Amino acid sequence: MSAEGVATTGARLLLRRLRTLMAEGGSAEERLRQIVRTIAADMVAEVCSAYVMRPGEVLELFATEGLKPEAVHRTRLRVGEGLVGDIASHARPLALADAQSHPNFAYRPETGEEIYKSLMGVPILRGGRVVGVLVVQNRKARNYSEEEVEALETVAMVLAELVASGDLVPRSEIRPTEGIGLLPTRLEGLILCPGLAIGRAALHKPRPTLAELVAENPASERERLNVALAGLNRTLDDLMARDDLAGGGEPRDILEAYRMFAQDHGWRERLNEAISGGLTAEGAVLKVQNDAKARMAQVVDPYLRERLADLDNLADRLLRHLTGGLTTLSLPEKAVLIARSLGPAELLEFERKRLRAVVLEEGSPTAHVAIVARALDLPVLGRVEGALARIEAGDRVVVDADNGQVFVRPGDDIEEKVAESMMLKAQRRASFAVLRELPAVSRDGVNVSLSINAGLLIDMQHLTPSGAEGIGLYRTEIAFMVRDSFPDVTQQTEFYQRIYEQAAGKPVIFRTLDVGGDKVLPYWPREGEENPAIGWRALRIGLDLPNLLRQQIRALIAAASGRALQIMFPMIATAAEFHAAREIVLLEIERARARGHPIPTPLEIGGMLEVPSLLWQLPELLKEADFLSIGSNDLAQFLFASDRGNPRLAGRYDSLSAAMLRMLVQVLRHCAEAGRPVSVCGEMAGRPLEAMALLGLGITRLSMAPSAIGPVKTMLRSLDIAQLQAYMNDRIALAHADLRGDLLSYARDHGVTL
Ligand code: PEP
Ligand code: MG
Repeated sequence: MSAEGVATTGARLLLRRLRTLMAEGGSAEERLRQIVRTIAADMVAEVCSAYVMRPGEVLELFATEGLKPEAVHRTRLRVGEGLVGDIASHARPLALADAQSHPNFAYRPETGEEIYKSLMGVPILRGGRVVGVLVVQNRKARNYSEEEVEALETVAMVLAELVASGDLVPRSEIRPTEGIGLLPTRLEGLILCPGLAIGRAALHKPRPTLAELVAENPASERERLNVALAGLNRTLDDLMARDDLAGGGEPRDILEAYRMFAQDHGWRERLNEAISGGLTAEGAVLKVQNDAKARMAQVVDPYLRERLADLDNLADRLLRHLTGGLTTLSLPEKAVLIARSLGPAELLEFERKRLRAVVLEEGSPTAHVAIVARALDLPVLGRVEGALARIEAGDRVVVDADNGQVFVRPGDDIEEKVAESMMLKAQRRASFAVLRELPAVSRDGVNVSLSINAGLLIDMQHLTPSGAEGIGLYRTEIAFMVRDSFPDVTQQTEFYQRIYEQAAGKPVIFRTLDVGGDKVLPYWPREGEENPAIGWRALRIGLDLPNLLRQQIRALIAAASGRALQIMFPMIATAAEFHAAREIVLLEIERARARGHPIPTPLEIGGMLEVPSLLWQLPELLKEADFLSIGSNDLAQFLFASDRGNPRLAGRYDSLSAAMLRMLVQVLRHCAEAGRPVSVCGEMAGRPLEAMALLGLGITRLSMAPSAIGPVKTMLRSLDIAQLQAYMNDRIALAHADLRGDLLSYARDHGVTL
């Protein structure tokens, strides 16, 4: 038998012995004492000690074979302190032949450990969190092998279950939020997709019990793993073949990435090794997942984190195949899905009509899942700390993703109030459907162009039902963000062709790649930037890497195939930048002409106003630009020097402030003088009161989220624009702060429906 074979067989025997010990009676501490004794004997070590994490990030010695017994509960090390603290802080094993020469060695006299030269320790991980440290020590210098480290890790995994059982330390220490019984609770989170929902909690993540971790028969576990892997692959194939996804475009790339991971040799090998170490198939998946998650905690690079997160999602899926956890079919009706994290393709797997909302422990507004959720109009809250621990399966849950909160087991009063708000919302929605056929015209007869913003092919489905005139902003980068590699010209061309097809003759304004800042491409490693929002992003990248921009333009020209093409550039800071970008378009037009390809007609090249410096170069810019689109999200962010993604600053500066409105007055004057159309495509355009203010300034082109079309059209049809314009002229000149209150009163007094 090979050396590895010996080691894995040894680990298996040890695991079996441990299982028997765990199943025996006696106090948890007594069992832990027996366990460390068994490990020490088995690993031929003079010392084996188990440290358990206590409140305040302190590791307390709970059981030892070999160190002085009086050190138990007395020796306490902070995370980061000593070798044990080092293992915990990095969540990674250490194997040292000469432990005392390690810079982090901290001597504790009460333990009597000065006589031990070598040390091997591993973190005890549960759900990616360090809940303790397991250490063996030897008197003589000893080079611990990789297999031995692996075996100790496997044992530590099983120990994690003992620590989490609540018998050793109060369970609340491990899962700080447990034990709240049936009391109603309110949890806060980050709004990833707004909306209201009432439903029953369905927990996305089954956890195998201890008995399900230690295996009797590795061969049968391997078989189970293979069956589950085959099932996983089948599900991925089925999903890819499903019509709704096939039409959706981008999720296919994500599924392909998952399928690639699922077939990855290294991943399968690690799973099989863990089974050889004595774990069940479930245990093996958890172990490999734990290792990856512990690594994830150390990784700051967002791209790498995304990749590790993909693997993590895949492990969750595999676990569900093994344990028969939640699947599309087993999802209860009116489910509020509670998960740690969720991949976009995974979300699409669930039947939308069974799903009411999603609550995630992780997630950020730019996460792919948030982008897909917006397209599905599904309320999603992210970063809800401890959601899986605080919410039990079947709990009644009210998700108020409009205000970033979730009520667990709420009282009747809360449920009634939210149900009422939902009913009112539904009524309003129904009334918007009626509006679809009615023209977007104000009470005094001003025609207004209302368009939608899109970024996924699924968004295109909203074009006709919303009654919008076209796509006022197509965020091309989103398609790039949900892929696994940079699409080439052919792939881009196909993608843009599909947008043309789905737009069915309605105009589309394609914005060139706006990456950087908070929009990251997972396959594009970047150097860390201190201020990414004002860093190397958007058009700056396009001008520095002109081939990239040229390829995109080439694909757009090819996709237009002689039809109208509207292109606009994001984040322009100088008129010269716009000029240079426009030259690139013209170069590509020449290239197409030289090759006898159809030239888009008409061709319009516009710019986005997002950086305030451009305000003083508008006359130059508008000589060349065919239109201007105001990206009010970024414009406000840079005007007020206020990070748009920082929840602490949200609401601090008002887009209806005198500063913002006076600036817009100037922009409009320049556009009028140059005879160029101007639109607003930031979030402002989709909020009825803000949209009213924009109309009052004289803007007649607005582009917004599809769900905003109804409310904005309702407002528009009840508004006399000329009257509001006269009112606003005076107010803006006199205003000291913001006009929000004034405009609200105006709307109330003049019968404007907000
Ligand atoms: C904006 O900044 O207002 C805008 C429309 O672009 P994005 O939100 O994609 O940055
Ligand atoms: Mg922007």
